[in-house]
Amino acid sequence: MYVIFIMLFKGDIMHLQSVKGIGPILEKKLNNLEIYSVNDLLEYYPYKYNFIKIININDIKENENCMINAMVIENASVQYIKRNLNQLTFRAISDDISFNVVIFNRAFLKPNIILGKNVVLSGKYNFFKKLFTASDIKFNVLNNSIEPVYHLTEGVSNNVVKKCINEVLNINNFLDKVPDKYNNEYKFISKITALNKIHNPKSIKDIKEASLKLKYEELFEFMFKINYLKQLNDRVLGIKRDITKKEIKTFINSLKFTLTKDQEESFRDIYNDLISEKRMNRLILGDVGSGKTIIAVFAIYLNFLSGYQSAFMAPTEILAEQHFKSIKLDLAKFNLNIALLTGSTKSREKEKIYQDLESGKINLIIGTHALITDKTKFKKLGLVVVDEQHRFGVDQRNNLRDKGVVTDVMYLSATPIPRTYALTIYGDLDLSLIKTKPLGRKDIITKVVKENNIKEVLYKMLDELKQNHQIFIVSPLIDNNEELNLKSVIELKEKILMAFNNQVSVEIIHGRLKQKEKDEIMNKFKNGNIKILISTTVIEVGIDIPNATMMVIYNAERFGLATLHQLRGRVGRNDIQSYCYLISNMDIERLKVLEESNDGFYISEKDFQMRGQGDLFGVKQSGDLTFKIANLKNDYDILLQAKKDSFDYLTSKDYLNSAYYLELTHKIDFID
Ligand code: ADP
Ligand code: MG
Repeated sequence: MYVIFIMLFKGDIMHLQSVKGIGPILEKKLNNLEIYSVNDLLEYYPYKYNFIKIININDIKENENCMINAMVIENASVQYIKRNLNQLTFRAISDDISFNVVIFNRAFLKPNIILGKNVVLSGKYNFFKKLFTASDIKFNVLNNSIEPVYHLTEGVSNNVVKKCINEVLNINNFLDKVPDKYNNEYKFISKITALNKIHNPKSIKDIKEASLKLKYEELFEFMFKINYLKQLNDRVLGIKRDITKKEIKTFINSLKFTLTKDQEESFRDIYNDLISEKRMNRLILGDVGSGKTIIAVFAIYLNFLSGYQSAFMAPTEILAEQHFKSIKLDLAKFNLNIALLTGSTKSREKEKIYQDLESGKINLIIGTHALITDKTKFKKLGLVVVDEQHRFGVDQRNNLRDKGVVTDVMYLSATPIPRTYALTIYGDLDLSLIKTKPLGRKDIITKVVKENNIKEVLYKMLDELKQNHQIFIVSPLIDNNEELNLKSVIELKEKILMAFNNQVSVEIIHGRLKQKEKDEIMNKFKNGNIKILISTTVIEVGIDIPNATMMVIYNAERFGLATLHQLRGRVGRNDIQSYCYLISNMDIERLKVLEESNDGFYISEKDFQMRGQGDLFGVKQSGDLTFKIANLKNDYDILLQAKKDSFDYLTSKDYLNSAYYLELTHKIDFID
C-alpha cells in the first residue's frame, strides 16, 4: 500500500529568507508562529486592530484607557524589582500639565526616553496622583489610524511582523483564488487590495471589505476540495461484500455488554456500507468514552469474514498499544491474526510483519504512521481505520488510498461538533453520530473553584490518593515565555509535593519533551508508578487510564468548553465516580456549563453560542478547522455560499480553465 503523507497546498513555497530583513534567526522565530513561507506571512492576519485616537489630557476620563501626546521632561530611570519585573519611570508634560509616567518591563526603552523627546502614551491617568500608568509607549503614531495587532512570540514584536508583511506586500503580485465569475457577482475587491487593506486598513470599511473577500476565498477553496473529494469518492467503486445476518449475531452475542442505541445504528450503517459496492468513507463522531472502538472492531470483523485485511492507525504509540491489547480481547473468539507495528518494533520483527502482511497471514495490523511506508505491502487490504480523525486534515484525507485496491475507510473522532457544521465541513464523508453513552457510565462530577479555595481541591486530592487513585493536573502555558512557564509548573509541582509531605510521586509532562520521553512518562503513569501527572499541554486524546479519577485544570478560562470537556474525558473511563475541578477566577458563567452537562454535543453547541468557534478544537490539535481568517460559526453563511458556488464551479467544469484549481484537483487525484 502506498500512502504518502504530503502537505499539499502549503502555499507557493517562497522562502522567508528571500524577504528583505529576514535572516536565519528571524526565520526560526517566525517558524514558531507557524510561518514557513512568504504565503504564510501574507496570510498571517491580525487577530484584532487598535484604533488610535489621541486625545487631550484634559479630556481623559478616570480609569479609562486613553492615548495622549506628551514630551519627556526628565530622563527615564529603571528599577529592577525582581526577576522578570522592572519598572521604568520618567516625567512628562502634556498641555501644560506635568506628571509622572510609569511602565513595567520596558527597561529597554530607557535610551529612547530622553529630555525633549515626543512620545505617545497609552494607558490610564490618575489625576490625583498625577500619575500615568502606561501599557505602551510609541514614538511615531498617526492620529486616527488603525493598528493591526498580531499574535507574537518571544523576540518578534508587532512591528517586526508588520515590517515583514509590508516588505512582501511591496514586491509581490498574488494569485486570487476566487474565480472571476464570483469576484464580479459579489463585487469583491481584488486579492492584492484585500491583502493590503487587511494588514494596513485606513477605515473600518477597509477591514470589512478585505475580510469578506479573504474569508470567502478561504472557504471557497476549502469547500471546493471537499466537493471534489466527495465527487471522487462517489465515483470510485469499493468492495462489495457478502455478509450473512447470522455472522453479525455471533459477533454481537460475543460482546460483554449491550450496544447503545447509537452503536447499534452505526453497526447498521457499516453493514450497509460494506455490502454495497460504494466505497465506505465514514466518520464516526462521538464523545470520549462513547464506545467508538467496538464500532471499528465490528467493521474489522466483517472485513475479515469476507477475506480482507484491515489496518488500524492510531496517532501515537501508546494509543496503538492500547488498541492492540483491547482489540485482541474483543476479537479473541474469532481467530484473527493481529499484529502491532510501531516505531519501536524491532527491525527483525518488522521484517517478519512485512512478510506476513504480504503473504496475507496477518488479518489485522495496528500501528502508528510507521505502519504506512513503502515497505508495507498487503495481500488484500480492504479496510483502513483512522483513530482521532481530526489529525487528518482535508489535505491528508484522500491520501489514504491504495494504489491497487480501493479500500474502505473509517475515521473515528472524539471532537463532538454540532451536526449542521459537521455535515458541511465533513461533507465528503458519511457521518455516524454516537450520542448515547454506555449504560452505567457515571457523569464526571465537575466543579468550578476559585483560586483562593484551592484547599478544597487539595483535600479532595488527598481523598482520592488514599483510595489509591491517580490524578491529572493540567496547568496551561500562560504567556509566550516558555522558560517562565516551565518555572511556574515546577513551582506547582513543589507546592503539591509539599502539600502531601513528599509522600506521592509527581511528574511533569510538557511540550518540549520528545515524543519518546512523553510516552515514557505516560507509560509510568499508566502503570501507576506516577500518582499525580502535571501536564502543560493538552493530554493525548484517547489515553485510557482507568485508575485516574480526578482532574484539576488550572486557568480553566483559557480553554474552550469543548476542549475542557475533552480534557476531562481522560478521567471517568470506568465505573468509579470521577471528578473534575476547574480552577479559575474569571469567566465563571461559561465554565459552569461543564458543571451542568456531560454531553459533548450540547457543550460544543454552547461553546459556539458563547464564543464562536473559540478554540473548539484545542490548540494546534485540529487538522481541519484551523481556518486562517474565517470562523466556522460567525461566517457560516459565507461558508454555505462558498459551498454552493464551489459546487457549481466544479460541476460546470469551469475549474478546468483555472490552472490553480486544475493543479489542485490533480494533487487530490494523486495517483500518477
Ligand atoms: P471511545 O469512544 O472514547 O474510543 P472506547 O471505545 O474506548 O471509547 O470505549 C470506552 C469503554 O467503554 C471501553 O472500555 C469499552 O469496552 C466500553 N464500552 C463500549 N461500548 C459499551 C457499551 N455499549 N456498554 C458498556 N461498555 C461499553
Ligand atoms: Mg477511542
